[in-house]
Amino acid sequence: MKLSGWGRFPVVDTDESRPDSEAALARAVAKGAVIARGNGRAYGDSAIGLATTLNMRRFNRMIAFDPDTGQLVAEAGLLLSDVIDTFLPRGWFPMVTPGTKFVTLGGMIAADVHGKNHHRDGAMRASVDWIDLMGPDGQVHRCSRDANAEFFDWTVGGMGLTGVILRAAIRLRPVESAWIRQRMIPAPDLDAAMAAFEDHHDATYSVAWIDCLSTGAAKGRALVMLGEHARAVELPHQHRLHPLRTPEKTTKTIPIDFPGLALNPLTVRAFNAAYYRNGLRQAGTSYVDWDSYFYPLDAILGWNRIYGRRGFVQFQCVLPLQVANTGLHALLDEIAAARAGCFLSVLKRFGPGQGRFSFPMEGYTLALDFPVNRRTLALMSRLDAITLAHGGRFYLAKDARLSAKTLRAADPRAEDFAALRQARGMSPAFRSSQSERLSL
Ligand SMILES: Cc1cc2nc3c(=O)[nH]c(=O)nc-3n(C[C@H](O)[C@H](O)[C@H](O)COP(=O)(O)OP(=O)(O)OC[C@H]3O[C@@H](n4cnc5c(N)ncnc54)[C@H](O)[C@@H]3O)c2cc1C
Repeated sequence: MKLSGWGRFPVVDTDESRPDSEAALARAVAKGAVIARGNGRAYGDSAIGLATTLNMRRFNRMIAFDPDTGQLVAEAGLLLSDVIDTFLPRGWFPMVTPGTKFVTLGGMIAADVHGKNHHRDGAMRASVDWIDLMGPDGQVHRCSRDANAEFFDWTVGGMGLTGVILRAAIRLRPVESAWIRQRMIPAPDLDAAMAAFEDHHDATYSVAWIDCLSTGAAKGRALVMLGEHARAVELPHQHRLHPLRTPEKTTKTIPIDFPGLALNPLTVRAFNAAYYRNGLRQAGTSYVDWDSYFYPLDAILGWNRIYGRRGFVQFQCVLPLQVANTGLHALLDEIAAARAGCFLSVLKRFGPGQGRFSFPMEGYTLALDFPVNRRTLALMSRLDAITLAHGGRFYLAKDARLSAKTLRAADPRAEDFAALRQARGMSPAFRSSQSERLSL
C-alpha cells in the first residue's frame, strides 16, 4: 500500500501489518525491515517501514492509574485524546503535549515530543517512568532510568529505531479546571517576541505565532501566548460550578484538496496580517478552554489538505540560545526574500535538552510549513545551511527531506546512534523510509 505522514509527502510503498497481540507483533518483527506507526502525525516518512509498517493502534488499552502519583500505565497505541477525555474530568492533564491530541503514547515517546512548557518541564521524557520495549529478537524488556537505562535513553527520541514500545508508564499533572488563563502579548518584531519569552520564563506555557512574511521594522512580528492552568476559584462565574467540564464545540472538516492556486504569496501574506491584527484585539488576559489553547489546528479536521495534493513539508530547527537571535533573523530574512507560501509559523523557547537522541536543546525552535515544490525545497536547503552555521539541529518528527550529510553535520549523535543500532542488531530489524534516507 501507499503511505505517507501528515504532510502527505513523500508517498512510499510499504506493507501494513496490524498486529493485535504481542505474539503477532513478535512474528512481524522477526521478518525484519519494520517500523512502528502510531497515528501517522509525524509529518514525513519516519513512521513508514521499509518493508512493513506496524500499525500499533490495536494496542490501545489503559491498564492502571494511581491517583496518588498521577501515574498512568497504558499501551503504546492509545491516543492522547483518549487520555484527556478520560482523565481531565477527574482532574488530570498530560504533563507534556504536542500541538495535536491525535497522537499515540508510543509516537510521543519515540519522538520525545515537546510542548509549550519545555522551558519549564522538559520534553515527554520527563513524564515517562518506564517503557516496555520489544527488541529485534521479539523479547520485551522494561526500560527506565534505572533498568536497561541505555535503551531507555536512546528509545525516547529514537524514532522507533531501537524497537517497538508496547506499554508505558507516564505521569499526568493534577489540574483544577479545564481552562487556561491566557495572556496574549502582541510583539511588533522578533526582538520584542524574544524579550517576551525571556521576561516570562516562569510562565508554565509559552508559544508565539510569527508572521514570517513581514519585513522591515515588522520583521518577525508575533503573538506571544502565555498560559496557566486556571484555578477553579478564578474562573468566570458561568464556569465555576463545573470547572472540569469542557464546553461543547463543533469541528470543521476540509472536504477536498485545495487547489494550489489558493496559496499564493498574496493570500498567505493577507492571512498572516489579518491573524496578527486579530491578535492585537485580543491582547491581555482571557480564559480559554484546553482544546482551543493546546490544539487549535485539531478543530479543523484534515487541515493538511489545504496544501493540495502534492502535500507540504515542515521545517523545524532549534538554535542554541547564544546565537538564536542572529540565527532567527537570518532565517526570517531568507524566507521573506523567497516570498514563500508560508503561513504563520511557531516559535518556542526550549529549556535544556535531555536524552541521547532527542531534538530539544536550550534555545529557540522555529517551525514553518511550506507547500511541496521545487522552490520551497530549495529554500529549505538554504534554511538548513543557516541552521548549521548557527550550531542548530533539526526535528526528525517533522522531517521529510533532510540529507544524511546535513543530519550528521548538525548532530554528531547520529553517528553514535547508527553505531549502537548496528552493534545491537537493530538496524536490519527496524528500518523506516526516513532511517534509510538518513543512513541511521
Ligand atoms: C498539528 C501537529 C502539531 C504538532 N505539534 C507538535 C509539537 O508541538 N511538539 C512536538 O514535539 N511535535 C509536534 N507534532 C509532531 C507529533 O507530535 C509527532 O510526530 C508524534 O510523534 C506523532 O505521534 P504519532 O502517534 O502519530 O506517531 P507516528 O507519526 O505514527 O510515528 C512517529 C514516530 O514514532 C515512532 N513510533 C510510533 N509508535 C511507536 C511505538 N509504539 N514504538 C516505537 N516507535 C513508535 C514511529 O516509528 C515514528 O518514528 C505535531 C504534529 C502535528 C500534525
